[in-house]
Amino acid sequence: MTQPIVLKEIEAVRQAVKQARQRGARVSLVPTMGALHAGHASLLRAARAETDFVVASIFVNPTQFGPNEDFERYPRPLQKDLQACAADGVDAVFAPEPATMYPEGFRTFVEVTELQDLLCGASRPGHFRGVATVVLKLFQIVQPDVAYFGQKDAQQVCVIQKMTRDLDLPVAVRVCPIIREADGLALSSRNQYLTPEQRQRAPVLYQALQQARELIDRGERNPALVQKALEDCLASSGGMADYAAAVDAETLRPLQPRLRRNVLLAVAVRFGATRLIDNIVVRVPAEKAPR
Ligand code: AMP
Repeated sequence: MTQPIVLKEIEAVRQAVKQARQRGARVSLVPTMGALHAGHASLLRAARAETDFVVASIFVNPTQFGPNEDFERYPRPLQKDLQACAADGVDAVFAPEPATMYPEGFRTFVEVTELQDLLCGASRPGHFRGVATVVLKLFQIVQPDVAYFGQKDAQQVCVIQKMTRDLDLPVAVRVCPIIREADGLALSSRNQYLTPEQRQRAPVLYQALQQARELIDRGERNPALVQKALEDCLASSGGMADYAAAVDAETLRPLQPRLRRNVLLAVAVRFGATRLIDNIVVRVPAEKAPR
Protein backbone atom coordinates (compact mmCIF):
# COMPACT_ATOMS: atom_id res chain seq x y z
CA MET A 1 0.00 0.00 0.00
CA THR A 2 1.58 3.28 -1.06
CA GLN A 3 1.12 6.29 1.17
CA PRO A 4 -0.34 9.43 -0.41
CA ILE A 5 1.77 12.55 -0.37
CA VAL A 6 0.35 14.99 2.18
CA LEU A 7 0.35 18.62 1.08
CA LYS A 8 -0.53 21.65 3.14
CA GLU A 9 0.39 24.43 0.73
CA ILE A 10 -1.40 25.50 -2.46
CA GLU A 11 1.83 25.79 -4.45
CA ALA A 12 2.81 22.22 -3.52
CA VAL A 13 -0.52 20.95 -4.87
CA ARG A 14 -0.02 22.86 -8.11
CA GLN A 15 3.45 21.32 -8.51
CA ALA A 16 2.24 17.75 -7.81
CA VAL A 17 -0.65 18.09 -10.26
CA LYS A 18 1.62 19.66 -12.87
CA GLN A 19 4.01 16.72 -12.66
CA ALA A 20 1.13 14.25 -12.92
CA ARG A 21 -0.19 16.08 -16.00
CA GLN A 22 3.25 16.01 -17.60
CA ARG A 23 3.02 12.21 -17.34
CA GLY A 24 -0.34 12.45 -19.16
CA ALA A 25 -2.47 11.72 -16.09
CA ARG A 26 -6.16 12.53 -15.84
CA VAL A 27 -6.61 14.27 -12.50
CA SER A 28 -9.51 13.93 -10.07
CA LEU A 29 -10.53 15.71 -6.88
CA VAL A 30 -12.59 14.32 -4.00
CA PRO A 31 -13.42 17.17 -1.60
CA THR A 32 -14.09 16.06 2.01
CA MET A 33 -14.08 17.42 5.53
CA GLY A 34 -12.35 14.27 6.81
CA ALA A 35 -13.58 11.82 9.47
CA LEU A 36 -13.70 9.48 6.50
CA HIS A 37 -16.17 6.59 6.33
CA ALA A 38 -17.42 4.15 3.71
CA GLY A 39 -19.40 6.92 1.99
CA HIS A 40 -16.20 8.88 1.34
CA ALA A 41 -14.43 5.63 0.40
CA SER A 42 -16.95 5.02 -2.38
CA LEU A 43 -16.05 8.41 -3.90
CA LEU A 44 -12.32 7.75 -3.55
CA ARG A 45 -12.68 4.33 -5.21
CA ALA A 46 -14.71 5.75 -8.09
CA ALA A 47 -12.01 8.38 -8.60
CA ARG A 48 -9.28 5.71 -8.40
CA ALA A 49 -11.07 3.54 -10.98
CA GLU A 50 -11.77 6.35 -13.45
CA THR A 51 -8.74 8.65 -13.25
CA ASP A 52 -4.94 8.42 -12.94
CA PHE A 53 -4.05 10.94 -10.23
CA VAL A 54 -6.46 11.18 -7.30
CA VAL A 55 -6.36 14.20 -4.99
CA ALA A 56 -8.47 14.07 -1.81
CA SER A 57 -8.90 17.28 0.12
CA ILE A 58 -9.46 17.15 3.86
CA PHE A 59 -10.56 20.53 5.10
CA VAL A 60 -13.15 21.44 7.71
CA ASN A 61 -14.28 24.58 5.94
CA PRO A 62 -15.07 27.34 8.44
CA THR A 63 -17.12 29.44 6.00
CA GLN A 64 -19.82 26.79 5.63
CA PHE A 65 -20.55 26.58 9.37
CA GLY A 66 -22.96 28.95 11.11
CA PRO A 67 -21.93 30.68 14.37
CA ASN A 68 -23.79 28.14 16.54
CA GLU A 69 -22.86 25.05 14.53
CA ASP A 70 -20.32 22.30 15.19
CA PHE A 71 -17.19 23.74 13.52
CA GLU A 72 -15.08 23.51 16.69
CA ARG A 73 -16.14 20.01 17.68
CA TYR A 74 -16.26 18.53 14.15
CA PRO A 75 -14.06 15.37 14.30
CA ARG A 76 -10.54 15.72 12.84
CA PRO A 77 -8.86 12.26 12.99
CA LEU A 78 -6.16 13.13 10.43
CA GLN A 79 -3.87 10.11 10.92
CA LYS A 80 -6.77 7.67 10.59
CA ASP A 81 -7.99 9.55 7.50
CA LEU A 82 -4.56 9.32 5.89
CA GLN A 83 -4.60 5.54 6.40
CA ALA A 84 -8.05 5.38 4.77
CA CYS A 85 -6.75 7.44 1.85
CA ALA A 86 -3.76 5.09 1.48
CA ALA A 87 -6.09 2.05 1.52
CA ASP A 88 -8.19 3.56 -1.27
CA GLY A 89 -5.20 4.43 -3.45
CA VAL A 90 -5.27 8.22 -3.11
CA ASP A 91 -2.18 9.85 -4.65
CA ALA A 92 -2.21 13.16 -2.82
CA VAL A 93 -4.03 14.57 0.19
CA PHE A 94 -4.50 18.32 0.38
CA ALA A 95 -5.01 19.23 4.04
CA PRO A 96 -4.58 22.99 4.32
CA GLU A 97 -4.83 25.15 7.42
CA PRO A 98 -7.79 27.58 7.48
CA ALA A 99 -5.36 30.53 7.14
CA THR A 100 -4.02 29.03 3.92
CA MET A 101 -7.48 28.95 2.35
CA TYR A 102 -8.70 32.18 3.96
CA PRO A 103 -5.75 34.47 4.61
CA GLU A 104 -6.25 37.73 6.47
CA GLY A 105 -8.29 40.09 4.32
CA PHE A 106 -10.11 37.39 2.28
CA ARG A 107 -13.13 39.09 0.69
CA THR A 108 -14.46 37.06 -2.26
CA PHE A 109 -17.42 34.66 -2.06
CA VAL A 110 -19.50 32.74 -4.58
CA GLU A 111 -23.27 32.68 -4.28
CA VAL A 112 -25.58 30.41 -6.24
CA THR A 113 -28.65 32.55 -5.75
CA GLU A 114 -32.07 31.01 -4.99
CA LEU A 115 -30.75 27.43 -4.89
CA GLN A 116 -28.67 28.34 -1.83
CA ASP A 117 -31.71 29.56 0.11
CA LEU A 118 -33.98 26.50 -0.23
CA LEU A 119 -34.17 23.33 1.94
CA CYS A 120 -30.99 23.22 4.10
CA GLY A 121 -30.22 26.81 3.13
CA ALA A 122 -33.31 28.04 4.98
CA SER A 123 -32.02 26.83 8.36
CA ARG A 124 -28.31 27.19 7.55
CA PRO A 125 -27.96 30.72 6.10
CA GLY A 126 -24.56 31.19 4.44
CA HIS A 127 -23.86 27.44 4.33
CA PHE A 128 -23.96 27.03 0.54
CA ARG A 129 -22.09 30.29 0.00
CA GLY A 130 -19.29 28.72 2.03
CA VAL A 131 -19.57 25.43 0.16
CA ALA A 132 -19.56 27.04 -3.31
CA THR A 133 -16.63 29.27 -2.37
CA VAL A 134 -14.44 26.49 -1.01
CA VAL A 135 -15.26 24.14 -3.90
CA LEU A 136 -14.43 26.83 -6.46
CA LYS A 137 -11.15 27.47 -4.64
CA LEU A 138 -10.36 23.74 -4.61
CA PHE A 139 -11.20 23.51 -8.33
CA GLN A 140 -8.83 26.42 -8.98
CA ILE A 141 -6.05 24.94 -6.88
CA VAL A 142 -6.24 21.33 -8.15
CA GLN A 143 -7.74 22.02 -11.61
CA PRO A 144 -9.17 18.50 -11.78
CA ASP A 145 -10.66 16.93 -14.90
CA VAL A 146 -13.27 15.22 -12.73
CA ALA A 147 -14.61 15.96 -9.22
CA TYR A 148 -16.60 13.49 -7.13
CA PHE A 149 -19.52 14.31 -4.83
CA GLY A 150 -22.06 12.20 -2.93
CA GLN A 151 -25.81 12.21 -3.56
CA LYS A 152 -26.07 12.20 0.26
CA ASP A 153 -25.79 16.00 0.01
CA ALA A 154 -28.32 16.43 -2.80
CA GLN A 155 -28.59 20.20 -2.51
CA GLN A 156 -24.81 20.55 -2.46
CA VAL A 157 -24.71 18.59 -5.73
CA CYS A 158 -27.31 20.96 -7.28
CA VAL A 159 -25.37 24.02 -6.11
CA ILE A 160 -22.03 22.71 -7.42
CA GLN A 161 -23.49 21.63 -10.76
CA LYS A 162 -25.13 25.02 -11.19
CA MET A 163 -21.94 26.88 -10.27
CA THR A 164 -19.93 24.69 -12.64
CA ARG A 165 -22.30 25.44 -15.54
CA ASP A 166 -22.82 29.12 -14.75
CA LEU A 167 -19.10 29.87 -14.37
CA ASP A 168 -18.04 27.60 -17.28
CA LEU A 169 -15.70 25.58 -15.09
CA PRO A 170 -13.89 22.88 -17.09
CA VAL A 171 -14.61 20.15 -14.53
CA ALA A 172 -16.84 17.09 -14.95
CA VAL A 173 -18.94 16.65 -11.81
CA ARG A 174 -19.65 13.00 -10.92
CA VAL A 175 -22.31 12.09 -8.37
CA CYS A 176 -22.02 8.82 -6.41
CA PRO A 177 -24.90 6.98 -4.69
CA ILE A 178 -25.59 7.18 -0.95
CA ILE A 179 -23.86 4.53 1.17
CA ARG A 180 -26.01 3.35 4.10
CA GLU A 181 -25.73 1.29 7.25
CA ALA A 182 -27.54 -2.06 7.25
CA ASP A 183 -30.57 -0.41 8.91
CA GLY A 184 -30.77 2.29 6.24
CA LEU A 185 -29.11 5.19 8.07
CA ALA A 186 -26.99 7.15 5.58
CA LEU A 187 -23.36 7.21 6.66
CA SER A 188 -22.28 10.61 7.95
CA SER A 189 -19.37 11.93 9.95
CA ARG A 190 -22.00 13.43 12.27
CA ASN A 191 -23.57 10.03 13.13
CA GLN A 192 -20.91 9.68 15.83
CA TYR A 193 -22.53 12.53 17.76
CA LEU A 194 -25.69 10.43 18.28
CA THR A 195 -26.38 8.86 21.68
CA PRO A 196 -27.19 5.11 21.49
CA GLU A 197 -30.86 5.96 21.93
CA GLN A 198 -30.80 8.58 19.15
CA ARG A 199 -28.89 6.17 16.92
CA GLN A 200 -31.73 3.65 17.32
CA ARG A 201 -34.25 6.23 16.15
CA ALA A 202 -32.14 7.69 13.32
CA PRO A 203 -33.15 5.14 10.62
CA VAL A 204 -36.55 6.89 10.60
CA LEU A 205 -35.20 9.30 7.95
CA TYR A 206 -34.78 6.51 5.42
CA GLN A 207 -38.00 4.80 6.54
CA ALA A 208 -39.94 8.03 5.91
CA LEU A 209 -38.37 8.38 2.46
CA GLN A 210 -39.23 4.79 1.56
CA GLN A 211 -42.84 5.16 2.73
CA ALA A 212 -43.21 8.30 0.62
CA ARG A 213 -41.68 6.50 -2.36
CA GLU A 214 -44.18 3.66 -1.95
CA LEU A 215 -47.00 6.20 -1.89
CA ILE A 216 -45.79 7.68 -5.18
CA ASP A 217 -45.31 4.19 -6.65
CA ARG A 218 -48.96 3.46 -5.78
CA GLY A 219 -50.00 6.50 -7.82
CA GLU A 220 -50.09 9.43 -5.39
CA ARG A 221 -49.22 12.63 -7.24
CA ASN A 222 -50.32 15.28 -4.71
CA PRO A 223 -47.15 16.94 -3.36
CA ALA A 224 -48.85 18.05 -0.13
CA LEU A 225 -49.98 14.51 0.70
CA VAL A 226 -46.53 13.06 0.03
CA GLN A 227 -44.99 15.75 2.21
CA LYS A 228 -47.52 15.00 4.96
CA ALA A 229 -46.64 11.31 4.81
CA LEU A 230 -42.95 12.21 5.29
CA GLU A 231 -43.77 14.51 8.20
CA ASP A 232 -46.04 11.97 9.92
CA CYS A 233 -43.42 9.25 9.73
CA LEU A 234 -40.68 11.57 11.05
CA ALA A 235 -42.92 12.78 13.90
CA SER A 236 -43.35 9.18 15.06
CA SER A 237 -39.61 9.05 15.94
CA GLY A 238 -39.52 12.00 18.33
CA GLY A 239 -36.88 13.78 16.20
CA MET A 240 -37.52 17.43 15.27
CA ALA A 241 -38.10 17.67 11.51
CA ASP A 242 -36.31 20.68 10.05
CA TYR A 243 -37.98 20.06 6.70
CA ALA A 244 -39.62 17.30 4.71
CA ALA A 245 -39.91 18.08 1.02
CA ALA A 246 -41.03 16.62 -2.30
CA VAL A 247 -39.51 18.96 -4.90
CA ASP A 248 -38.14 19.07 -8.45
CA ALA A 249 -34.80 17.24 -8.30
CA GLU A 250 -33.05 19.80 -10.49
CA THR A 251 -34.46 23.18 -9.41
CA LEU A 252 -35.37 22.12 -5.83
CA ARG A 253 -38.60 24.08 -6.36
CA PRO A 254 -42.04 22.84 -5.29
CA LEU A 255 -43.85 20.76 -7.92
CA GLN A 256 -47.38 22.09 -8.47
CA PRO A 257 -50.06 20.95 -8.91
CA ARG A 258 -48.80 17.37 -9.35
CA LEU A 259 -45.56 15.47 -8.88
CA ARG A 260 -43.81 14.81 -12.18
CA ARG A 261 -40.44 13.89 -13.71
CA ASN A 262 -37.68 13.44 -11.10
CA VAL A 263 -38.89 14.14 -7.59
CA LEU A 264 -36.36 14.73 -4.82
CA LEU A 265 -37.71 13.50 -1.50
CA ALA A 266 -35.49 15.18 1.10
CA VAL A 267 -35.58 15.34 4.89
CA ALA A 268 -33.58 16.99 7.66
CA VAL A 269 -34.15 15.99 11.28
CA ARG A 270 -32.61 17.11 14.55
CA PHE A 271 -31.88 14.63 17.29
CA GLY A 272 -30.82 16.89 20.14
CA ALA A 273 -28.07 19.12 18.69
CA THR A 274 -27.33 16.71 15.83
CA ARG A 275 -28.88 17.46 12.47
CA LEU A 276 -29.15 14.58 9.99
CA ILE A 277 -30.17 14.74 6.32
CA ASP A 278 -31.18 12.13 3.78
CA ASN A 279 -32.89 11.93 0.39
CA ILE A 280 -33.98 9.75 -2.49
CA VAL A 281 -34.94 10.61 -6.05
CA VAL A 282 -38.14 9.06 -7.40
CA ARG A 283 -38.81 9.00 -11.14
CA VAL A 284 -42.47 9.68 -11.88
CA PRO A 285 -43.57 8.20 -15.23
CA ALA A 286 -45.02 10.69 -17.73
CA GLU A 287 -48.81 10.90 -17.49
CA LYS A 288 -50.86 9.94 -20.52
CA ALA A 289 -52.49 12.98 -22.12
CA PRO A 290 -56.31 12.86 -21.73
CA ARG A 291 -58.09 11.91 -24.99
P1 AMP B 1 -18.19 15.67 3.86
O1 AMP B 1 -16.88 15.16 4.39
O2 AMP B 1 -19.34 15.39 4.78
O3 AMP B 1 -18.12 17.09 3.39
O4 AMP B 1 -18.49 14.80 2.57
C1 AMP B 1 -17.57 14.73 1.52
C2 AMP B 1 -18.25 14.09 0.33
O5 AMP B 1 -18.64 12.74 0.69
C3 AMP B 1 -19.51 14.82 -0.11
O6 AMP B 1 -19.56 14.89 -1.52
C4 AMP B 1 -20.60 13.96 0.47
O7 AMP B 1 -21.82 14.06 -0.25
C5 AMP B 1 -20.01 12.57 0.35
N1 AMP B 1 -20.66 11.67 1.29
C6 AMP B 1 -20.83 11.84 2.62
N2 AMP B 1 -21.55 10.83 3.14
C7 AMP B 1 -21.84 9.99 2.12
C8 AMP B 1 -22.57 8.75 2.01
N3 AMP B 1 -23.15 8.18 3.05
N4 AMP B 1 -22.66 8.18 0.79
C9 AMP B 1 -22.07 8.76 -0.30
N5 AMP B 1 -21.38 9.92 -0.26
C10 AMP B 1 -21.27 10.52 0.92
